[in-house]
This record gives sequence, C-alpha cells and structure tokens, in this order.
Amino acid sequence: MEECIFCKIVKGDIPCSRIYEDDMFLAFLDISPINKGHVLLIPKEHHRDIFDTPDDTLAGFAKTAKKIAKAVKQATDADGINLGQNNGKAAGQEVSHSHMHIIPRFADDGLKHWPGGNYEEDEAEKFAEKIKDRL
Ligand code: AMP
Repeated sequence: MEECIFCKIVKGDIPCSRIYEDDMFLAFLDISPINKGHVLLIPKEHHRDIFDTPDDTLAGFAKTAKKIAKAVKQATDADGINLGQNNGKAAGQEVSHSHMHIIPRFADDGLKHWPGGNYEEDEAEKFAEKIKDRL
C-alpha cells in the first residue's frame, strides 16, 4: 500500500518547510496556502483523523497548535487565526493523517465564512437531544 504523504514528510523522504518539531509533533507550511503562512500541524505517529487520535496526543495537539498559532499571527501580522481540522472526505479531508490547519486571516482577505442555515420548529431541540444521548 502507498505510504501516507505526511508520514513521508515525518521521515524526511519528502521535503517540507519545517516550522516546529518535538518528539510528538511536526509543523510545516501548507504547500497550497489559503493565506501565506498557513501551517499544518501533525502528530508524528500516523492517526487517520481526530477519532483515531489518542486523547493524550490530542491534548498536546491543542497546546502545540496554540503556540504555533501565536507565532503565525505575529509573523504574518494577521488580524485573526483559523484553526481547522477536516475529518472524513465529506468534511474536506484529503490527507488521511490527522492534521490541524493554522491559517492566518486578514480583515480584507476576501475569504467567506461558512453560510449559516436554520432549524424548523422544535428541530434544534431534537438534534441537541440526539447528540447529548451519545455523549
Ligand atoms: P485536508 O484537506 O484537510 O486533508 O488538507 C490537506 C492539506 O495538505 C492541503 O491543504 C494541502 O495543500 C496540504 N498538502 C498536501 N501535500 C502537501 C505537502 N507535500 N506539503 C505540504 N502540504 C501539503
């Protein structure tokens, strides 16, 4: 089976613009940035998505993302930062190795946020109950 592209980056088999590295995580520039300075943070171990990533790793993931987000914001003089994780093809995940997008945002960058929808009467409560039942 073809090895995961991010695992190849971890091994150094594929080059990347490395930003940060420790025992557990690696951060590098996204090759196709939404805005310049867009960073990807990945656990070095292969985990498919958030559901497949151990809780301990996720805790460190969030902490490391905060550290890198701060540096990205300062370095790019961004007005804001999006942290994003796509899980599953339908959610836009192209690379099946758990990763966090750290994206500098600018007031005038022209990007649109997701459109908001609405619920029919009583529908929100039903969704809330369904989700709560599974926690
Ligand atoms: P996602 O759609 O959430 O799976 O995001 C995958 C991201 O990986 C995309 O934004 C790609 O631009 C990025 N990407 C794919 N290959 C590479 C690579 N070799 N180096 C850096 N970023 C990459």
